[in-house]
Amino acid sequence: MESNIADNLARVRERIETACSRSGRPSGGVKLVGISKTFPAERIRQAYEAGLRDFGENRVQEAASKRPELAGLNATWHLVGHLQSNKARHARELFSWVHSVDSEKIARKLHEAAPDAAPLQVLLEVNLGEEPSKFGTGESEVMRLAEQVGSMPSLELRGLMTVPPFFEDAERVRPFFARLRELAGRIAAMKLPSVSMRDLSMGMSHDFEIAIEEGATIVRVGTAIFGKRDTKV
Ligand SMILES: *Cc1c(COP(=O)(O)O)cnc(C)c1O
Repeated sequence: MESNIADNLARVRERIETACSRSGRPSGGVKLVGISKTFPAERIRQAYEAGLRDFGENRVQEAASKRPELAGLNATWHLVGHLQSNKARHARELFSWVHSVDSEKIARKLHEAAPDAAPLQVLLEVNLGEEPSKFGTGESEVMRLAEQVGSMPSLELRGLMTVPPFFEDAERVRPFFARLRELAGRIAAMKLPSVSMRDLSMGMSHDFEIAIEEGATIVRVGTAIFGKRDTKV
């Protein structure tokens, strides 16, 4: 069944506004990134026509295959999935944000791919649940990684990102979001040069309202905009 992207988008925006007002935050303080993985370029264009401007993919190859059809859109492209170092150069060409930097090695590859270019906006992915099945740096390494990334002139470190464990009861994820906010605060307090920590990328279809209540400035929403994905990715 084709779901109506414009209606879905309107509903998501409404829920974002409600969550913002509930927590006394201006709704302009939350950026909505539509996660279009597994959906064809045509669906991305529909969302664009409905007013969405930020899009996220989790695979470099998949993003590359859709992009020619979307040339000319005034959109901002985000990579939210794990990046292999041999794809760093390609990623730098395709995206202006990378949410999933989780090692010094990948950061360096991204920097060296275009050391003199306009800065790439990066977030450090933290694996808060310490889940072996998930990517992300451990909490104990994130300070050091922030320092390293802060010293790479073509990367602008904006903040942190997390994909917390999944709970049927979304309320149970709240402590993870609070934890990410605390970590960002601790890094901000280090006052590293060229590190702002103003962004928290957290919250997906299932739990973005809770993430907003806990301070998310970027929510990554796929299913609630584009519909159910056929394949698990
Ligand atoms: C797929 C994905 C999302 C979106 O998930 P939904 O539950 O469909 O909203 C967000 N972030 C990342 C990193 C993803 O891979």
